[in-house]
Amino acid sequence: MKDIHRQAISQRIDWLFDLARRHGETFRGPEAWLARERYHAEHPTAIGVLKCMDGRINIPVATNTPAGILMPFRNLGGMFDLGWPHLGEVLAHHVQRMTGNGRRVLFLITYHWSRGNPQRGCAGFGYDTAAAIAHTQEIRRQMEHIFGSGHGTVYPLVCGFETDEEALSIHGSDGSVLDLAGLGGADLATLEPRLAALLPDMPVQMRADLLPLMLGNLEHICEIRAQTARQQRRLDIEHREWVICIGRGFDFLHTPNLALIIGPYSPDLADPIRKAAGIIDANMKAGRIPDDGFLLLASVPYDEIGVDRARAELKSRFLSRFAADVIREEFPELAGRMSSRNAVLDWRSRNLELIGA
Ligand SMILES: [Zn+2]
Repeated sequence: MKDIHRQAISQRIDWLFDLARRHGETFRGPEAWLARERYHAEHPTAIGVLKCMDGRINIPVATNTPAGILMPFRNLGGMFDLGWPHLGEVLAHHVQRMTGNGRRVLFLITYHWSRGNPQRGCAGFGYDTAAAIAHTQEIRRQMEHIFGSGHGTVYPLVCGFETDEEALSIHGSDGSVLDLAGLGGADLATLEPRLAALLPDMPVQMRADLLPLMLGNLEHICEIRAQTARQQRRLDIEHREWVICIGRGFDFLHTPNLALIIGPYSPDLADPIRKAAGIIDANMKAGRIPDDGFLLLASVPYDEIGVDRARAELKSRFLSRFAADVIREEFPELAGRMSSRNAVLDWRSRNLELIGA
């Protein structure tokens, strides 16, 4: 990727929509479609991932999983409260749809941290990893309240993501932790019994479907270490975000330090928008990005044409207007440099369609 961060805002926006277009084309191609179909047939457990909006948290890449298998839920700091009306509805709907098709649901509830430098941890939690872990445990308890604590169908699993080596760690129900960064190639064969010992209450099929993610992550950690040895990997990448995304369907933007992605979940939506705008403002003032503009991108996915798509249009426009109002109120100078685009996303084809204001 050439240094897109240095180009004029209009070129950066063109680049971004071109990226979305290429992502959609790959996603709906026959090869990718067949790979997903085959994956679902071999691994029937539906896997959702609750995670931070930080662009470094790319679980499909870190686990060598094909795009479109892991269902992402993103928010600032990976902070979620299942009492939030919209979030609770989205999650419950997701679970009902999956179980209606006979599938179990595994939720990876993630926090992230850095082994090398606490300041590379989660800004949303003020770099306090213990607080981030406590929050994921609370989400786990909320999930058990809603979906049951027997874990026969829905399993909430707390996972750490160490961003220096992009290594996962799995938290067992008894408090012990399996850190994949501590395992080597020789441990591949022992991973299955380790998982069984750590998660004795997890249905056998689900454990079998979790295993490929763990194996993929072990391979990925090896690649990352090789990159680090060749000095091709920079850890202290600074904040250079110039996009605020609001809504859902931003899989194509899984690039570190490019976009701040805000899910439409929190009833206090203004809070993450303010924080994101503050980061963009600081980026401009420090000269990390050009100060000629930033992009506010609203996207809302739809499953069906007709009513569902029409409602997605209204939601997209609402989210965009709401975010723009917050930014205008709190950062009037920054608001003058805002370009905004509204879109709906055909979820099945991942086709991002621009709509008018
Ligand atoms: Zn974070």
